[in-house]
Amino acid sequence: MSGPIVVAGAGQAGSLLAIYLARQGHEVTMYESRPDLRRTDIDAGRSINLALATRGIVPLIDVGVIEQVDAITIPMKGRMVHAVGDPTPDLQPYGTKTHEVIHSVSRTDLNAILLDAAEATGQVTIEFEARIESVDLDQSIIHFVGGRTEPFYVIYGADGAGSRVRKAIAAKGACEFETEWLDHSYKELTLPPATDGGHMLDPHALHIWPRGEFMLIALANPEGDFTVTLFAPTPTFDDLTNHDQINSFFGGEFADFAALVPDLADQFLENPTGPLGTMRATGWSYQDKAVLVGDAAHAIVPFHGQGMNAAMESARLLHRHLAETPGDIAGAFQRYEAQRKPDADAIAAMALQNYVEMRSGVIDPDYLTKRALALELEQRHPEHLSPRYNMVMFSTMPYSEAQSRAEAQAKLIADTIADPTLDVDQLVSGLPVLPQLDPLADPEALSTS
Ligand SMILES: Cc1cc2nc3c(=O)[nH]c(=O)nc-3n(C[C@H](O)[C@H](O)[C@H](O)COP(=O)(O)OP(=O)(O)OC[C@H]3O[C@@H](n4cnc5c(N)ncnc54)[C@H](O)[C@@H]3O)c2cc1C
Repeated sequence: MSGPIVVAGAGQAGSLLAIYLARQGHEVTMYESRPDLRRTDIDAGRSINLALATRGIVPLIDVGVIEQVDAITIPMKGRMVHAVGDPTPDLQPYGTKTHEVIHSVSRTDLNAILLDAAEATGQVTIEFEARIESVDLDQSIIHFVGGRTEPFYVIYGADGAGSRVRKAIAAKGACEFETEWLDHSYKELTLPPATDGGHMLDPHALHIWPRGEFMLIALANPEGDFTVTLFAPTPTFDDLTNHDQINSFFGGEFADFAALVPDLADQFLENPTGPLGTMRATGWSYQDKAVLVGDAAHAIVPFHGQGMNAAMESARLLHRHLAETPGDIAGAFQRYEAQRKPDADAIAAMALQNYVEMRSGVIDPDYLTKRALALELEQRHPEHLSPRYNMVMFSTMPYSEAQSRAEAQAKLIADTIADPTLDVDQLVSGLPVLPQLDPLADPEALSTS
């Protein structure tokens, strides 16, 4: 073996993969374009958080950092729905089982834990402020912004949705990719702590203000504030350009929220508006030299809270394929993509569908009737039926399986509501038996690293 093993990008996928590669005995160099977030306040003024669920928790248990992560998370047991003009929000629990909660976690703090764990292996060197410009897969050389070059033996592309490694694989004709942009965008805002330092809303729920075509969501931070995100059609953002327009929009649509944030209009004008897209790629690797993982391979819209969870699940899967056939790296890369690509496509589709569910479904009587029936049937037939959200968030069953099961369940429920003479219990018991849904209680799920 000649030249170093390189990981491009020190996000969740890159840092986790670096830990796994070190466990396989490799010396790893990780290049990250940004400064070290443990020493620099990169996101000054913004405390951006993410929803962590089972697929992300399993790898964190696997690499031994779950206790540190657990100390910085806030469990959320359901959706707190703030309907228009209703002063009492309604909690829709995610499920009835103890593990059916999601966890609010700071992106910065989680990444810091993973960076520390990577360095603690003693085999991972991280270079910050090292932005990869391009990758020469013929010569096995990385070109950095500024002119420096470095050799590599294998490069793992964990460099996010705009991946340079993916561009290099595409330039060899081995990868095709496209980004489907949504005509909706997002903006993050902060709901400050109460005067006593506590939370102004229940921190143990994911708050949603569904408004049909757009919505606001809020996740708590341990410091007492909430990270709040407005998702809306892009023209909505273009139309809100001054204090009066912003205050009138929020006062009209989200009056309870607006009353809690005195500097709302200033924040809105200062904070960036971000685009939302799905990046689908086919051809995730090139020979035994390069492979993609995380958003670099499959970037999705954030409405199922699964991008990071999927990125870490992919890193773990790649590790498992490499560990199975250490003498056949190219084959491991191909088997990893063959297994994972259908699941990446499935979660991309489900994430788009979940936007509609969140912004309008949760207040739609038809949706609520179906959901109530699904939860009731789950109680009666837990071995055969689980709501789609729960299969995605609280299990490690392949996303593609969750998708096809959810489609069969949705049809069964719609048929039953349309024709009350159907024997719903008999129909549900005809659905294939569910696999173990709580891998956190299943030591087998964690035994192969
Ligand atoms: C608004 C929003 C909300 C979200 N909420 C959730 C959520 O609740 N739950 C969830 O699971 N996911 C969520 N996601 C998705 C999640 O953020 C991503 O899917 C996840 O962070 C991907 O991890 P990654 O390591 O693959 O990529 P990234 O986190 O993007 O990491 C890539 C790293 O590579 C570095 N890099 C990029 N280019 C270069 C280069 N040329 N040279 C060197 N380094 C480079 C970057 O600086 C970065 O550190 C959300 C996303 C958005 C936009």
